[in-house]
Amino acid sequence: TKKEKLELVTQKIRPFPDFPSKGILFRDICPLLKDPEALTAAIDLFEEHVREAYPQVQQIVGLDARGFLFGPLLAQRLGVGFALVRKKGKLPGPTVSVAYTLEYGKAEVEIQADAVDPGQKVLLVDDLLATGGTLFAACELMKKQKAEVLGCLVVIELRDLNGLERLKPNSVFSLVQY
Ligand code: AMP
Repeated sequence: TKKEKLELVTQKIRPFPDFPSKGILFRDICPLLKDPEALTAAIDLFEEHVREAYPQVQQIVGLDARGFLFGPLLAQRLGVGFALVRKKGKLPGPTVSVAYTLEYGKAEVEIQADAVDPGQKVLLVDDLLATGGTLFAACELMKKQKAEVLGCLVVIELRDLNGLERLKPNSVFSLVQY
């Protein structure tokens, strides 16, 4: 059942205090990847939600780097393709990029110009939603490419950081919330 699957997923998220810096509680998804049952449960839950809420989806777009772990598995289940949003400087050929601000400094995300098509209906995937800055930048990339963002999917949502607010009017579906 859905409840049992959620339980399997939740049990495999491991907290690490003060990583990568003091005051940050890092939510580690490596145990989830290590356990085939739990990983299957996570992808099942994403798939069930997408089939119900976004049956029209045409492409999954994954965020560098842990979005690449879940995105292709989900895309394969759904029978759609996968595109990569990467940190700047990693992708060959013509690219489009969006700069965004981090807690300290700036970063830039990038996509190959032909990775998504104009009008294509896409879902963005990452492991975790914190402030929403990264997913917001990815949404801006999609806008530049005239793709239609149906919504965002994350394994974990950190509620205190108001990522949902930042991403409005785009919706975010999460498996586990803290
Ligand atoms: P943000 O742009 O603030 O929503 O940050 C999201 C990105 O940072 C995601 O790609 C996460 O992988 C990573 N991240 C932020 N906070 C955490 C955390 N507490 N534990 C694990 N990953 C995190």
